[in-house]
Amino acid sequence: MLNEKAPTTTSGFDFFKLDSFLNDEQRAIRDRVREYVQSQIMPNISPYWDRAEFPRELAMGLRDLGIIGGVIRGYGSAGLDPLAMGLVKYELAKGDGSINTFYGVHSGLAMGSIGLLGSNEQRERWLPAMSRLEKIGAFGLTEPEQGSDAVHVRTTARLDGDHYVLNGTKRWIGNASIADLIIIWARDEDGQFGGFVIEDPKHVAGLEIEDLTGKIGKRAILNADIRMKDVRVPVANRLAKPRSFKDTAKVLALGRFGVSWEAAGCAAGAFELALKYAKEREQFGKPIASFQLIQQKLVEMATEVTAMQLICFQLTQLIASDQMTEAMASMAKYNNARKARYVTQLARETMGGNGLLIENHVARLMTDAEVIYTYEGTNEINMLLVGRELTGISAFT
Ligand SMILES: Cc1cc2nc3c(=O)[nH]c(=O)nc-3n(C[C@H](O)[C@H](O)[C@H](O)COP(=O)(O)OP(=O)(O)OC[C@H]3O[C@@H](n4cnc5c(N)ncnc54)[C@H](O)[C@@H]3O)c2cc1C
Repeated sequence: MLNEKAPTTTSGFDFFKLDSFLNDEQRAIRDRVREYVQSQIMPNISPYWDRAEFPRELAMGLRDLGIIGGVIRGYGSAGLDPLAMGLVKYELAKGDGSINTFYGVHSGLAMGSIGLLGSNEQRERWLPAMSRLEKIGAFGLTEPEQGSDAVHVRTTARLDGDHYVLNGTKRWIGNASIADLIIIWARDEDGQFGGFVIEDPKHVAGLEIEDLTGKIGKRAILNADIRMKDVRVPVANRLAKPRSFKDTAKVLALGRFGVSWEAAGCAAGAFELALKYAKEREQFGKPIASFQLIQQKLVEMATEVTAMQLICFQLTQLIASDQMTEAMASMAKYNNARKARYVTQLARETMGGNGLLIENHVARLMTDAEVIYTYEGTNEINMLLVGRELTGISAFT
């Protein structure tokens, strides 16, 4: 029988009742993050965004939510199952992309690289303090001249006794200027790919970190240029497992799983705000929600958000059963990033001029979507990864 009641509640848009698939633990984690986002992040984030300042205290509050380290088990990490992990990304993204990216870079890319590609000794050495947010991590892959083409990074690592000597530049590195350890991806003299962990970067000779300014999206997380001139990193700080870009790509595929959820959350956050606004805002003596043209936008947004949620749920089933391929993660990221851009723009226009004011949140989410569209593989790169799997032919070059 059809349920006539619109299933939109203040607890989150869930048209296809996906909440019914969650177990109590997943629901509890989701609600804990949601509560923190709604009570702490949403009321406080906008001035930080406006000043392009990192909200350290808000970010440190994540420590108490039991989510740091994501799916990593042991070492004080959260040990979330993949669905709980996705829900965390979704809820954070509904509130703010900068906080989400702080979490994604630290917990996903940096801790994820160590968890997946480090030795036991390296995990023991770094992960416990990172799980407590006592040490913050960054992930340095992109370079000024090597963005999408990161497989050809130019940064070099030359062996010199019991150290590697790093030379090169990195760009866009999130958390770098506040990081206690930065994983630098470089090629050694044998042409092998490696992850080199620079500890205490502020006190390392030859290393310069300079925050980028003038960024129009995710302004409350800082991204930096890193310049390395003969930076010495102990041999023991080379991640044990990676030898080719394919190893790093495993971390990136997990990242794309998270970013697919992030895109869905970003879109859902914008849609929920627009729906509320449309019911409250009156023009021509009526709520604007009563106009067909506004309802068209609302339905369009609701449908896209629901489709994004469904993709995320199935992708999660695939990752949980060890069936997710790189191209599956890319397809989800490709679809959801595109749709997040579309939905946040519809939400913005539904709110008229007020949609352009940072204090109303949707403008911020709209620029979050621009970043989502570009990082963790641009739209085109994820498309090409899917195309390669479909045809067996690489069209990258
Ligand atoms: C806010 C933000 C945070 C980031 N954080 C990090 C981080 O913490 N660590 C990190 O290492 N990196 C980070 N990045 C970098 C990000 O991963 C890169 O921006 C991304 O990989 C794209 O590289 P690029 O910007 O150099 O664009 P380019 O690679 O120069 O691409 C420019 C355009 O060309 C297209 N293009 C490129 N190659 C092809 C091709 N073969 N076929 C068709 N089209 C193509 C692209 O899709 C894009 O539209 C971040 C970026 C941003 C914006």
